[in-house]
This record gives sequence, C-alpha cells and structure tokens, in this order.
Amino acid sequence: MTQDTLALFVDDARAVPIEDAAQRLGLKFSGNRHEHPQPCPHCGGTDTFAFNTAKNKWNCRAGGVCGNDGIGMVAHCEGLNLHRRAHFLEACSIVLGRPIPDDAEQESAEEPGRRLQRIKQRRRQNETLPMMAARLSGTRGLPLKAGRGWRISR
Ligand SMILES: [Zn+2]
Repeated sequence: MTQDTLALFVDDARAVPIEDAAQRLGLKFSGNRHEHPQPCPHCGGTDTFAFNTAKNKWNCRAGGVCGNDGIGMVAHCEGLNLHRRAHFLEACSIVLGRPIPDDAEQESAEEPGRRLQRIKQRRRQNETLPMMAARLSGTRGLPLKAGRGWRISR
C-alpha cells in the first residue's frame, strides 16, 4: 500500500462533517433542532455530550473537551488516543465508514471488531427514536409498514 493511499484516506476523514460522523457513530439525533444533547458514549451521564450540526461542533461537559472535527469526536466517544498512529487511523476509519487501507496498521483484529459491533448496536438503538417521532407527527396516514422499514441511509 502506497503512502499516498493512506494520506488520501486521512484527508478524506478530515473533511467529514460532524453530522456524518455522528451518524456513523450511531449517535442520537434529537429531532428538528441543530443541537443534539445525549449521554456521552465514553463518559456517561445524561446530557453531558452534544453535537451541533449547524455549527459543526461537538462538546463533552463531563470530559471537558470539545472540537469541530469528526475525527476528534469519534476519538472521544470511542476512547481512542489520537497521538497513537493506530488509534488515529481507526478514528479515521470510523468517521469514513471505510476500513483502513492497510490492514497492518491496525492494533489488533479483535479490538476494532468489538468497537464496530458496539457502534452498530448503538445505531440500532437510536434509530428507533426518529422513527417514533415521525409516526407521532403527521405520518399517521401512512401504513405501519412504511414506518417499520425506516432506515438511516448513510
Ligand atoms: Zn465524554
């Protein structure tokens, strides 16, 4: 794998907006506003963590950290240390929803696998919320089947 492929991968990850990163992380979208408060996946609490899709920012009051990039948000939520190369690349991989170009860069095969499993589970959990909200507001005329098939497209 050439150095260019990896550099391109990192550049792509840096360009991912907070909104997309939040979706890939399976975070909760609270509804029609730009601010999305929720428990921090890493620190816990109730509304300790929030991301804002209009300002492209996130912050965690429990951890006392904030930022304006998807990689940083993923790193905080998943407990990854961006000063470690393997962790940094894994954060890029989650942000992009793409595997790291060179498999040898991964810390181990099991750890990222478990992490992706957890993210998938979180996404499933949070997916049911907008579905119920849609049912309550104005989509009552739709057959129940349409609601059941609802999925986040990205
Ligand atoms: Zn936190």
